[in-house]
Amino acid sequence: MKTTECPACHQQKSIIIDSRLTSDKDRGCVQRRRECQACGQRWHTWEFDRETVEKVRKAVELMREVEL
Ligand SMILES: [Zn+2]
Repeated sequence: MKTTECPACHQQKSIIIDSRLTSDKDRGCVQRRRECQACGQRWHTWEFDRETVEKVRKAVELMREVEL
């Protein structure tokens, strides 16, 4: 399931009404609250911010270089 998709009506028209970092800062996880523009359903998503994903990707590349 896509995080932007409404769990009730499966529309893609959701907006972010709240965004906050979770307490687990090491993982760079962002908790977002979304609201469906079609039916008003609200739900939470947990997403990794782009910077964290980039850091993890580089770390994995470094590890691979060491292994070689
Ligand atoms: Zn909906």
